[in-house]
Amino acid sequence: MTELGRKQLLIGGEWRDAEGATTMPVVNPATEEVVAEVASASPGDVDAAVAAARAAMDGAWGQMSGRDRGRLLWKLGERMLERIDEISRLETLHNGKPIRESRHVEVPMAIECLQYFAGWADKLEGETIPVGARAHVYTRREPLGVVAAIVPWNFPLLLAMWKVAPALAAGNAVILKPASQTPLTALALGEAAIEVGFPPGTLNVVTGSGSTAGQAIVEHPGISKVAFTGDTSTGKGIMRTAAETLKQVTLELGGKSPNIVFADADLEAAVRGATVGIFYGKGEVCAAGSRLFVDRAVKDEFLDKLAARSKKMVAGDPMDPTTRLGAIASKSQLERVLDYVQVAKSQGATLLAGGERTDIGTGKGYFMQPTVFADVTPEMTIAREEIFGPVLATLEFGDVDDAIARANDSIYGLAAGIWTRDIAKAHYVASKLQAGTVWINTYNVYDVSVPFGGYKQSGFGREMGRLALDGYTQNKSVWVDLS
Ligand code: NAP
Ligand code: MG
Repeated sequence: MTELGRKQLLIGGEWRDAEGATTMPVVNPATEEVVAEVASASPGDVDAAVAAARAAMDGAWGQMSGRDRGRLLWKLGERMLERIDEISRLETLHNGKPIRESRHVEVPMAIECLQYFAGWADKLEGETIPVGARAHVYTRREPLGVVAAIVPWNFPLLLAMWKVAPALAAGNAVILKPASQTPLTALALGEAAIEVGFPPGTLNVVTGSGSTAGQAIVEHPGISKVAFTGDTSTGKGIMRTAAETLKQVTLELGGKSPNIVFADADLEAAVRGATVGIFYGKGEVCAAGSRLFVDRAVKDEFLDKLAARSKKMVAGDPMDPTTRLGAIASKSQLERVLDYVQVAKSQGATLLAGGERTDIGTGKGYFMQPTVFADVTPEMTIAREEIFGPVLATLEFGDVDDAIARANDSIYGLAAGIWTRDIAKAHYVASKLQAGTVWINTYNVYDVSVPFGGYKQSGFGREMGRLALDGYTQNKSVWVDLS
């Protein structure tokens, strides 16, 4: 028996096995042990979840006032807060991220997200539109219906909440499919939703593989929208499949975000920002500042400091509250990242720090050294492809317009960072960067009230903030004849 035993699907307010009692293992990447067996849903299970969600829309949930939905969302946040230690531990257990990140950053942010959107639930107002004396026209902001959230393994709970919270606030019923590797906190969210009294079918948690459960969700005609975060190629496939039933999609995809250090920056702060930008979350972060552009004038000095700081970061037991670098989320991801290191070397980049697998004294776990490459040129693979690991590519630039051109030379456009003391330059560059988020003299900061999402092939649609609600509502215009 594993540490956490066997976990079932949450469908229509009840826990049940997948069809055929099929399961899949969940591995702790820090120990390589199987910690749980979770249900692996079939297309038939997806069908059942859609039927349960539809029944919720046609029943108690669809009738509920915005205020009551908001109360439930708030209570769910309170319940998660009571369970925060346990949920944070689960997040670290299946992903390998340091407990300080789960417990003090990501699970608290997920709870804030619930409570922020709780406040919106009774504020989704329509308008009256003056079209003349012969008619009265008003608009209603209605939910889409049954909405699916398909999320990856890097921020399992937080990325789920960015979708689930606004979707429920707007009155949709939700089917959540977590990543196969990291289903535990989505299941905990489902448990808490039952505990606080969400009507059955309002939130269904369907664990299973992308190729079976995920594919069945995207094909299902009873689902109105798929909100997806994950790989760009998966996102393209989802959009193609969703076209068959004309589902709405929002896609939050990969990135290769530029972090630009000008010579007039506070270099100490920029070194800290560069390391937070790439090593937070082990670099398994869609907005990771994975392309660092350094002004030629300060390059040598900057890279010396950066290499020294990176070498001081050592991987540790993710459950240890002092650990700042955890385990890579899976064996396959570790192998993928190490392959990129080999490619970088073979293409002539200079290794400044790290570059190898490491261990924390246990001989187990998928740990990797924080890795920094210098002399990276724009055509090299590590300057173009998302690595999704603790690997930083550093490049150089000449003047401001050169920095902008190089930063924008990417298929992606999720985020960007600028380090300078010159405020005019900072705002000029911010206006020119093709990215959905620009950080000036900081990196990797988020707030649930601030929209987040991509330009270019980093996707479309915005999560968090008021804008997120646009992705979960549709407008109805009602005409009343007055003649
Ligand atoms: P992925 O395939 O995009 O997985 C994301 C989610 O989509 C998971 O829940 C996955 O289920 C599901 N999925 C996969 N194929 C699907 C399909 N055909 N239809 C519906 N759902 C589907 O990402 P990954 O394979 O785990 O990671 C691969 C690479 O993607 C990483 O190495 C990284 O470079 C990148 N990535 C980027 C982000 C980001 O936020 N930008 C996040 C994660 C990964 P399963 O878990 O069962 O596959
Ligand atoms: Mg995949």
